[in-house]
Order: sequence, then C-alpha cells, then structure tokens
Amino acid sequence: MAQYTPMIQQYLAVKAQVPDAFLFFRLGDFYEMFFEDAINASRELEITLTGREGGADEKIPMCGVPHHSAENYMSRLIEKGYKVAICEQVEDPAEAKGVVRREIVRIVTPGTVMDSKLLGESSNNYIVSLVSREAGYAFTACDISTGELYTTKLAPSWELVVDELNVYNPSEIITDAALLTTIRESGVTWGRSTVLTEWTQSDEKLLDEHFAEDSALSGLSALNRNGVALLLAYLKETQKRALTHVKHIRVYEPDQFMTMDPFTRRNLELVETVRERAKKGSLLWLLDKTVTAMGARMLRRWIEKPLMSVSRIEERLEAVDLLYNQLIVRDDVKQALKEVYDLERLVARISYGNANARDMVALKHSLQQVPLLQEVCAQSGSATLRKLVENMDVCDDVMSWISNAIVDEPPVSIRDGGMIREGYQPYLDQLREASTNGKQWIAELERQEREATGIKSLKIGYNKVFGYFIEVTKANMSALQEGRYERKQTLANAERYVTPELKEKEALILEAQDKMIDLEYELFTELRDRISQHISRLQKLAEVIATADVYQSLAAVSAAQHFRKPEIGEGFDLQIEEGRHPVVEAVIQDGSFIANDTRLEDEQGRILLITGPNMAGKSTYMRQVAVICLMAQIGCFVPARSARIPVTDRIFTRIGAADDLIGGQSTFMVEMMDIQVMTEKATSKSLVIIDELGRGTSTGEGMAIAQAVIEFLHDRIGCKTLVSTHFHELAHLEESLRHLRNHCMAVKESGRQVTFLRKLIPGAASTSYGIYCAEIAGLPDTIIQRSYELLNGFEERAAGSAQVAAAVADVVPASAPIQQLSLFEEDSTAAVSGKKKPDTKSQLVIDQLKGIDLINMTPLQALNLVYEWKQKLQ
Ligand code: ADP
Repeated sequence: MAQYTPMIQQYLAVKAQVPDAFLFFRLGDFYEMFFEDAINASRELEITLTGREGGADEKIPMCGVPHHSAENYMSRLIEKGYKVAICEQVEDPAEAKGVVRREIVRIVTPGTVMDSKLLGESSNNYIVSLVSREAGYAFTACDISTGELYTTKLAPSWELVVDELNVYNPSEIITDAALLTTIRESGVTWGRSTVLTEWTQSDEKLLDEHFAEDSALSGLSALNRNGVALLLAYLKETQKRALTHVKHIRVYEPDQFMTMDPFTRRNLELVETVRERAKKGSLLWLLDKTVTAMGARMLRRWIEKPLMSVSRIEERLEAVDLLYNQLIVRDDVKQALKEVYDLERLVARISYGNANARDMVALKHSLQQVPLLQEVCAQSGSATLRKLVENMDVCDDVMSWISNAIVDEPPVSIRDGGMIREGYQPYLDQLREASTNGKQWIAELERQEREATGIKSLKIGYNKVFGYFIEVTKANMSALQEGRYERKQTLANAERYVTPELKEKEALILEAQDKMIDLEYELFTELRDRISQHISRLQKLAEVIATADVYQSLAAVSAAQHFRKPEIGEGFDLQIEEGRHPVVEAVIQDGSFIANDTRLEDEQGRILLITGPNMAGKSTYMRQVAVICLMAQIGCFVPARSARIPVTDRIFTRIGAADDLIGGQSTFMVEMMDIQVMTEKATSKSLVIIDELGRGTSTGEGMAIAQAVIEFLHDRIGCKTLVSTHFHELAHLEESLRHLRNHCMAVKESGRQVTFLRKLIPGAASTSYGIYCAEIAGLPDTIIQRSYELLNGFEERAAGSAQVAAAVADVVPASAPIQQLSLFEEDSTAAVSGKKKPDTKSQLVIDQLKGIDLINMTPLQALNLVYEWKQKLQ
C-alpha cells in the first residue's frame, strides 16, 4: 500500500470497510470508483473506464459519475441487486491539512432504499433478519421507507420461514452464514431476486435505547429481542443515522393469520398472476380501489394475511357493510382521501432529512383533509369507523406550522430560497425588503441612465460572474460620459460597464440575497426538525387514513361486483350459494359466468370428488371456493348470493403445473412433496384443494396414490377437501367413504357436439371428452376421426376388461394398504382374496405384468395390455 499516493491509500482504507459494496468516493464534483469497483461499474453502468496515476507502476483503473446525477447511477446498481457505499468529504478542503478527510455517510442496499424512484408506490420494501435457535426462528421485517417493523417467533420448521418470507417478499435478508446456506440450498425464490447479506452483529444496548419509549419492547421474547437487535444494528451501520421514524415494534403470532404456502399464494393469484407475474388479473388488482398509496400497501398486507379472529373480521365487515350500503358516505370518505399524499413515506423522508419544501406542502394538504375524514367516519353510523377515528390526533399543530412557514408553491431545491412565507420571520422580511428595494433602485437607475445618456436601448442586467452591469450597444458607446463608466465585459456588439454607485448597491443586494437564502434554509430545516419530533403521531394518523381507505375500497368493489356480506363463524360447515370466481367473472364477458353452490359439511360431505372433462371449469370452481374463504377472512364481501364461511386456518392448494419445477425435480415429485407438507400441516379447520391428483405418474400408481391420499384426508384429518381427478374409477369411493361426495361438471352432448355447462352437479362424469378437446384445439380431422374409431373399438373391448377393474376394486377395498395393489403376487393374492395359486396362463400374465414399465406407459397402452391379458386368460 505504501507505494500509493495518500489519497489512494485513504480510498483503500475506506474500501476495506465495505468489501461487498461499490464505493462511490467523492472527489470534487465527481464520485469516483477505483480498481475492481471501477472495472465492474463501468461494465454495469456502461460508463468509460479510464486510468489514474496513483503512485504505483501501473495506472489504477478508474471511472466516475458527476455528483449531481449520481443518484441515477446508484439506483441502477441497487436495482441490479448491488450495494453502494457513499463516501463524502467531511471537512472543508480549504481547511484540510493533507488529504481531505472522507467518511462513508450511508450504505444503500436493496433492502434500505429511500429513493422513491426505486420504490413501488403500492408495495412495501422489506428487509428481513432471521435468527435461528433451538426454540425456533425470530423473523423480523422492516420497511425503512415507511418505518414499519414486524417481528414474530416461528416454530423450528424451515417451511414456516419460507411461508413467512413469501408473505413479505423481502429485497434483502440478513442472517448468519449457516442460514444463508440453507436459503441458497432451498433454492426457493420469492418473486424477486433477494440480496443475501451475512450479518451477525446484534446490539441489544442499542435496541433498549432506540425503543425505550415503545411499550412493545418489554414484551419481546429473548429470541425476538435478538432478531430486532440484529436488524437494528445493521440498519444503523448502513444508514448511519438515528432512524427516528422506526418507532414501534409490532409483535405478532403467526396463528393470528391464515397460513398459506408459497404455491397456494401463487396459485390463487393473490397479488400477481401465475403466468405474467403481473398485478393485473390478480385478486389485489380487482379489490384495489384505494385512493392513497398507504391504503394500497395496507390492502396488499390484508390480502397477504387474512385474519383468524371472528370478532376482528366482523369488525371489518361492519365498516365495509356500511360503506357498501351508504353510497354518499363512501363517496365522502373517498373525497376526503383525494388530497392525501403518502404520509408514511413523507414522514420517513422528514426523519432522514431528505424532505424538501414541496414535501411539506404535501404534508399540509394531507393534514388539511383529516378533519373532514374524521367527521365523515364519526357520523357514518358504523361503529368500526367511529372507533377508528375516536381518539384520532389530527395533528393540526403540525399543519399550521407548515402553513405559517411555507409558501403555497415552493421550489424543489431548498438551497435557493423562495420557500418561506412573508411575515414568518422579521429579519427575513427585512432582508427581503432590502433586496426588493435594491431591485427597485436598480430599475430607477436604469431609467435615469437612459435619460442622462439619451440611449433608449441602455439596460441594466445581471449575471453570476460579473454581477450587475450597464449594457450599451457598440453604436451607442460614444454617448457615454468619459470616466464615469468602468468597462467590465466586451460582447460582439455591446459593451458592459459598472459605475461606483452600481457596485455599492450590488454589494448590498447580493449580501441581502445570500443572507436570505441561508436564513431560509435554516428556518426550513428548523421546521423539518421540529416536525420530526412528532413522527409517531403522524404515523398513527397515517395508519388510520390507510385503514379508512381500505374499507372504502373493499366496499366500492363489493358494491360494483355485487358481492354479498358473508356470515363468518367458528363452526365447521361451509355453505356458498351461487358462488363465483371474482377475477374470472370480472374478465370474461359480462354476465356469462356460471355461479355454483358449495356445501362442505360434517354430515353432508366434506370431501367433494369432482370429475369432468378438461376445460369444464373444475379448477376455476375449486379456486373460487378458496378465494371466497380468503376474501371473507380479510373482511371483504364475497362473490355469492349468500355465504356461510367458517374460519379456515390454512388453505392448501395443489393446482396447475405452470411453473413449479424446482431445481430439476419432476412435476410429480413436487406434487408429492407438497402433499407431504399438506398431510403434516392440515387440520380439520383447513381447506385442501387438489387438482388432478396423481396425474404425473402412470395410471395405476396415480390412481392408487390419489385414493390413498383421499382416504388419509377423510379418516385422519377431516378437513374440507375439493379434489378433481380424471380417474373416473375413483367414483366408487363414495360408497366406502362416509364424508365423500361425487360431483361433476355438467356437459351437454348433442351428437358429437359437446357444450360445457360449467355447472357443478352431483354424481360422477362418465367420460373425459379428451377427443372433443383435441378437436376444438384444432387437430387434423383425420386424427380426430381415427381417434373416435379407436375409442369405439376400445370401449367395446373395455366392456370385457371392466370385469378386471371390478376385480381390482374388489381386492383393493377402500383404506386397504397400497401394497395390496400387487394382486397377482402369489403371497398377497392368497392373503387378500384367498384364491388358489395361479395356473400357467396366469403365470404368463403375472410375468409380463412384473416386467412392464408403468411410469412410461400411457393409459391407452395399459388398456391394450389388459385387453391382451384378457384374451390370454379366456
Ligand atoms: P378445468 O380445470 O376443468 O380444465 P378451467 O377451470 O380451467 O377448467 O376452466 C376452463 C375455462 O372455462 C376457464 O378459462 C374459464 O374462462 C371458463 N370457466 C370456468 N368456469 C366458468 C364458469 N363457472 N362460468 C363461465 N366460464 C367459466
């Protein structure tokens, strides 16, 4: 290092503190990067790589960005998942002895972004800390752009961590090396690329100091104290400031909310669609009629975390009910919210010292709306809304501080003056008067000079380099009195002069202006600091406003989409009359959605086995039941004529195979892993939805697994279950499983014409209309014709082989262990059916059966084989 210049040595010392971040090193008007950073940044940002002498033999790679546009470059790096450390000069170069002192003033990471351009308005940006102990995990999430901080304790099961990560979708996770490895190895992604940061320094003393005024602190478990302290230490280290807006720790228990695994969230398309990962087409998209950004973020949180408490759900439903029925009140609430800006993020910027005068005006406008909102809610007739605003602190003092101090339309910059109102501060007024008088004096001087010289085009101007000047065209120069005018600047056809009296006045005016700008800045920051003492009041207010916004949004959508209020309770039975899928209904043509009833009841059948051809509407129906339950538990009305919804602790869905290939595992393997989790986690209060159970393997195995899973759910768990299957043979289960009912999607046939009626009816479907589907998919006519011919042939033959199927059903009674499927095996056959040893013909069949590759066999090949055996055995 010794060979480097002192400045490069300083650079290297600072860089050593942040090996995993790009170091933006301030040199005059530029941020420079050196060495590896320069090479990488020039590639990522497409900026020129140059070299600089630094004392060593070779030039040091260097690239830089101008400080005024640096934010843009930093944002691009952050967006790509990098971290950026900003290193500033922290002493005046004029006073520095040797190299100017420089320090890192902030480290920006994807989880600690404050720049509004990088933050989605309607979603939070979380950083999560994870701590693992024997007792379980401490899971802590913070959004520093709003100041929210949540923490919970999870039982020692990695799936719970994954579920929770999926709710928060963090842009950064900080934890120890072992957990980072677990995260990497589990290969799960949470919708966005998450930066993983190793961090183990936790600071409990800092925790106690920071949250000294928060009553939640004393109730924290040791594990959660650890988690919050870890996160706080990291935020302090990177942000290098007090974080006064992170005020309150919200502790929650995971069982306060409905549980959903990542697949279920995705399959139900709660906040984004499966295919495009777009908001449009999701439940959030449909329900979001919020007016404010805070409301939009809260609605998203509600959808991600449906409630479990009946009384809290009812409280929400009560407010939605009133706003649903009282159009005028709903409109008033909406109007009151119109001028409300993103208070949460405004407040965070105030705490960071980033807020400008325009932000203050936005805050003022927002606060001006609050009394109206309060009045509307208080008089709405809704107990929930009244309670919401009952002890609301409207922060009118803050509003009047701003309106007294800041002009209505201030400039963006806080360094150029023009922000503070007249009459706010006497000295500022005096300076202003001096400056204004000075300007009048100059206008007067211009008039006098024109008169004295007789030059009509003479004018007095100002520029930053030369100050005030008298400008005369070259043609008029001769009219000027000798000796009185001192030449300052020569232009192509004009000359610029000053006079002693102009100079004197100029000094006065400029001095007043400088003082004015400084004083305005001072007054502004003083106001900002004063407001930052009241952050938690403003945050509480923001939460009230957001809640009112979510209520009006849910009510507005419920009214527009003709949803109805659900009856919610602790019992078991679920009844939905004329239920619809809210999003499918909204996107298909008006009125063409076919409503369906659902009854899942202890006595009347809590498992529905749904058969029906592809495209009949099975998965839409099953999703709709799940979505209706979820909507009820967030406190929204539901798309049905009426609905009685019991509280569901977990929704488990296994639908579709769109994008669930994890790390090269087959769809079938993924399905089995999911089913394993489901068998472990589901309770009698859960709702299980499985589409095409057992589809990924050969017919025999698939059917066997499907039956075994259904039996398990029926006998052991007793949860509400919807299963669709193309194994029509499973219909016989209705006879042996007391709580199972067969249903199918009705289809109308006329000749070869098939119409999907999309109506769920009792009973099992008899055929799967696969060839019909092939036909509407546009397969050539010759293939279709041939398929029908073959099918007819098979069906005739299958009449015979049906006896084989019957035999299978005979020897494999419901709930029989799966291994009994090996019915031809000598020992088990004897054990199960008591039949004699097989003869030679049978032996042939048995041998053949042992040798076949079921996994790679199509149902058709299997059927042909059965047919052959039958021929042999006759
Ligand atoms: P399946 O799961 O039986 O293959 P889907 O549920 O995917 O069928 O439905 C196929 C299509 O039918 C969907 O794209 C949807 O637009 C339409 N659909 C489904 N259910 C209904 C319904 N109840 N009313 C009207 N259209 C429906």
